[in-house]
Amino acid sequence: MKYRNNNYSINKIKVSKIAQKFGTPVYCYSYEKIRENIKNLKKNFKSISPLICFAVKSNPNLRIIKEIGKMGLGADVVSKGELLKALKAKIKPNKIVFSGVGKTKNELTFAIDKKILLINAESESEIIDIEKIAKSKNKKVNIGLRLNPNTDAKTLSQISTGKKENKFGIDKIKFLELVKYCKNSKYLELECLSVHIGSQILNYKPYEKMLRAIASILRKLDHKFKYIDLGGGMGIRYNKSDKKLNYKKYNSLIRKFKSKNKCNIIFEPGRSIIGNTGILLSRVIHLKANKFKTFVIVDAGMNDLMRPALYNAKHAIIPAIRNKIKHNKIYEFVGPICESTDKFLTIKKFQKINKNDLIVICDTGAYGYSLSSNYNLRPKPAEILVKGSKYFVIQKRQSFKDLI
Ligand code: PLP
Repeated sequence: MKYRNNNYSINKIKVSKIAQKFGTPVYCYSYEKIRENIKNLKKNFKSISPLICFAVKSNPNLRIIKEIGKMGLGADVVSKGELLKALKAKIKPNKIVFSGVGKTKNELTFAIDKKILLINAESESEIIDIEKIAKSKNKKVNIGLRLNPNTDAKTLSQISTGKKENKFGIDKIKFLELVKYCKNSKYLELECLSVHIGSQILNYKPYEKMLRAIASILRKLDHKFKYIDLGGGMGIRYNKSDKKLNYKKYNSLIRKFKSKNKCNIIFEPGRSIIGNTGILLSRVIHLKANKFKTFVIVDAGMNDLMRPALYNAKHAIIPAIRNKIKHNKIYEFVGPICESTDKFLTIKKFQKINKNDLIVICDTGAYGYSLSSNYNLRPKPAEILVKGSKYFVIQKRQSFKDLI
C-alpha cells in the first residue's frame, strides 16, 4: 500500500478507482498484506510453534476468515455468532477457542456440541454451567481457565483487560480453588490456562510480567496444563511515534517459559494480523471554516469507524491523490454524525482540500468494520478485498431497504 505517481494504491490499483466503482465510505483490504503479516508472525514465533487463533472480533468478514484459515490459522471467538462464522469459514473445530466473560448456556451447549478445542471459562458460575451441560450429555468437555494475572498492559485503559479491577479472568486465589474443582469433576478436562492482558501492547515488559504471574501460579499447582493460551494484544504502529513491539524479546521469554513448563502455546491475535491491512476511504462532503480551523466534513462517521470516538484512537489520514498544494489551514476531519465525538483527527499540515476530494483513513483493518453500527440510521459501508490485480466486494454495502 503506497503512492504510485501520487495516487495511493493497493498493489497497482488506485484507491480512487475503487471509490469510484463502489462508492464511499468503503473499507479496502490487501490480501498480500494479510499474508505477509501472518508469515511474519509465524516467523517471529517459529521456535515455539504456537497454534495461532485469529481473534474474529477484530474482523469478522467471512472471506477474510476463510483466507486466514487457508493460511493455517485457527480462530478465537467470543460469541455464538463468531463461532458460526468461523465454522462457516471452514476453520476446523479443533482449532477454535471460545473466550469471553458472559457465555450463555445456549452458547456453551452449541460449543460443546461442535467439539471445539477449548472453552476458556472466566468464572465459577460458567464452570458450573459447562459441567451441568457436559453431565446432561454424559461427556467430558475440554476447558481452559482464564487467569486474571493483575498485570498492567500499559495500554489505553479502555482496552486493558488484565488488571484486578477488570471484569476479565479469575483472580489468583479463586483460580487455585477452581483448578481443584475441575480436577475432581468427571465432566471437565482442564487442559488450558489462558490470559489476555489487553490490546495494542507495544512494550514487551507487560508480557514479561504476565509470564511471571503465570509461572508463579503454576508453581503452586500440581496440575499439568496441555496448553498455555497467551491471548493476543500485540500492537501495531498507528503513528510514527508508536514504538515497534520487540517480538524477538517476547519470543525468547516465551521460549524459556515453555521449556520450563513443557506446554503448547496458543495465541489469539487480531490487530497484529489485520490492523494495517485495511483502509477506510471517505469523500469530503463539505468544508466549513471558523476563526480557528476548517472542518473537513467527510462521509465516514463514527458509526463506520468507532475507535477515535470510543478510545480517542488516532488513525493517520492521508490524501488519496496527492496535489502538494500548501496552505496554512488547520483541518479537523469530522464525520456527519450528530455527536461532538464524531471526529477523526486534527491535522496542521495537509495539502489543500476541496469538496469531493477523497481521503484515506489508515490502519482500519482491525476493530473498524467490526465495531461499526447503524447509528443515525446510516447503512454500513461495503468491504473490498484487493488480491493481486483483482479487487472485489467481500461485504455488500447495506441498503436502505435493509434498514427501514
Ligand atoms: N483474545 C481476547 C480474549 C480478547 O479479548 C482480544 C481482544 O480484545 C483478543 C484476543 C485480540 O486482541 P488483539 O486484537 O489486540 O490481538
